Amino acid sequence: MPGAGTDKTKNWIETPGPAVVLVEPQLGENIGAAARAMANFGLSRLRLVTPREGWPNPRAKVMAAGADRVLEGAQLFSSLADAVADCTYVLATTARAHDQAKPVMSPEAAIHELAPRISGGEKTAIVFGRERIGLMNDEVAMADGIVTLPINPAFASLNLAQAVAVVSYEWLKVTSGNLLPHTTPHKSPNAPKQQMAAFLANLERELDRVEFFRPPEKRETMLVNLRNIFARMQASQQDIQTLSGVVMALSDGRKGPARGGILDGDEAERLRKLVAERGRIHVSSERAPARGLAKLLRRNPTDEERILWEALTRHRRFAGLGFKRQVPIGPFVADLVSFPLRTVIDIVPATEEGEAAEARVEKRAWLGARDYKILEVAAADISQDVGAVLEKLADAVKP
Ligand code: SAH
Repeated sequence: MPGAGTDKTKNWIETPGPAVVLVEPQLGENIGAAARAMANFGLSRLRLVTPREGWPNPRAKVMAAGADRVLEGAQLFSSLADAVADCTYVLATTARAHDQAKPVMSPEAAIHELAPRISGGEKTAIVFGRERIGLMNDEVAMADGIVTLPINPAFASLNLAQAVAVVSYEWLKVTSGNLLPHTTPHKSPNAPKQQMAAFLANLERELDRVEFFRPPEKRETMLVNLRNIFARMQASQQDIQTLSGVVMALSDGRKGPARGGILDGDEAERLRKLVAERGRIHVSSERAPARGLAKLLRRNPTDEERILWEALTRHRRFAGLGFKRQVPIGPFVADLVSFPLRTVIDIVPATEEGEAAEARVEKRAWLGARDYKILEVAAADISQDVGAVLEKLADAVKP
């Protein structure tokens, strides 16, 4: 379909270019297809020397597929001499060696000859021959140079319109500086080195935890190799966020929020209240209850926890900081914690009284005494504007 990939809002390229002269073309179809190729590559001046089937030709219009402007603007001449009378520089295209003492050039070299003359205001032309017999010797003799294509010598003759297409393509390629209309989409900007370094540090720590680097004397080489693997990929910021998520998920063995959970947001909230009221788990030497409870909470996030977590894991400034959800610390369970930053994010529900409030005070005192920084976030703020909450948190955790 002719319009596919065509942007109708774009202006037709109408910059000066060489005239394309077709000498006695036999088939209307070829004239139409040549006009189409010219229009595709930004050429518009078509000159016809006594087309065999007369002019205008409806078959040309069919093949032009929308390049009507070029056809309508075509000028008719009764001889090649007339057609190039106003030109100061003329090139003849041919597959054959005509044994005439003139420069023979590739289409690309031809455009390099033409372009500066055209910008200097000269009129120029590229001449194409008849389908069956090409250009006569005396016609080639009128030209300043010969253009021929690098080609299979055993099958050297192109269809007329295709020859026009190849030369027109070279015209736009050279004069546009090979500029393409669209390029590879860049969805996420490239990751800055700092983000990559944070990810690698996180990866290294997690690998250390499982004693991946063995034997120890190989550690440095293995690390360099690992870094190089990631350096080669020219990661985007999104790539690093994804990889950080992967490392965290693997290291935590964690199910994502709401996966494997059975409670909805309200029920999850009641669970926390219950835990807060009853669940001061005073079993300091025994960590199992806190671990089991953490797992239960982790799998059943409240709406606010889920919103905050999903936003945080996507946020560039938290990449590689090692935050985890619902993690037991001593006898308590922290909503979010980063052990590398020794920072806890504590989500406070809208209403909290009595035992629950007391338990929270106690938890903070316990964590504070162990050098944890506590960042308090109101659940209501999360549902209102999680972006603002994250910015504030990001500023607070900034190393
Ligand atoms: N049998 C003819 C070919 C005509 S093809 C001959 O021997 O000349 C129609 C026109 O397309 C040619 O006159 C020329 O202008 C162009 N053309 C075809 N093949 C070409 C090639 N390999 N190099 C340059 N121009 C070519």
